[in-house]
Amino acid sequence: MRYHIDTGLIYEKFRENGECPLCEIEKKAQEQFVHEFLNDAVMEDDSRISVAKHGFCEKHFDALFSGKNKLSVALQVLSRCDAIEDLVAPVKSAGKAKARAAEILKAKDDCVICDLLNKSMEKYYKTIAQMFVKEREFFKLLYSSKGFCMKHYAELLRYSGSAFPMQKEYLKTLSEVQKKNFDKIKTDLKAFCDSHDYRNA
Ligand SMILES: [Zn+2]
Ligand SMILES: [Zn+2]
Repeated sequence: MRYHIDTGLIYEKFRENGECPLCEIEKKAQEQFVHEFLNDAVMEDDSRISVAKHGFCEKHFDALFSGKNKLSVALQVLSRCDAIEDLVAPVKSAGKAKARAAEILKAKDDCVICDLLNKSMEKYYKTIAQMFVKEREFFKLLYSSKGFCMKHYAELLRYSGSAFPMQKEYLKTLSEVQKKNFDKIKTDLKAFCDSHDYRNA
């Protein structure tokens, strides 16, 4: 069985022992995709076609726009504008307004970077489950980690089947780590709130 993705970045981010190593992995993967769409991807036909078809969500448009290559962003957005011309055709009846609104909102959230990122993150979730089974060192790192944000905890649960034949043990470890750190966050929050309560002055 081969891993879905290189394990180097997973080890690096788990060793940093922050609040959610998967948020850090996702951030890094996202930076790489944004970099590609500001550089080489502009020149590739496949990529131009994908951009025209899906466009960029608000978040990733902002990330591209705050980069240095404005011409690259302009060229890609222009291809997208050609593809969504229909969305600005006259709305001829009240009955069509709702349908058009739904189409526009759907197009607005479509995003070529989100798609690539989701596919890439799926490989990380599966690889983490496999590493739990195969690498003793990783098991220890996971067990002593600070858990995950709720989104990434949910994704790890969803792809826990990749820990076969140790899915049950994997789920037990994930749940224990998450619960322990959830309780710690609650204790910390309570201590912070109490310290601002005048009755405790
Ligand atoms: Zn996270
Ligand atoms: Zn996006």
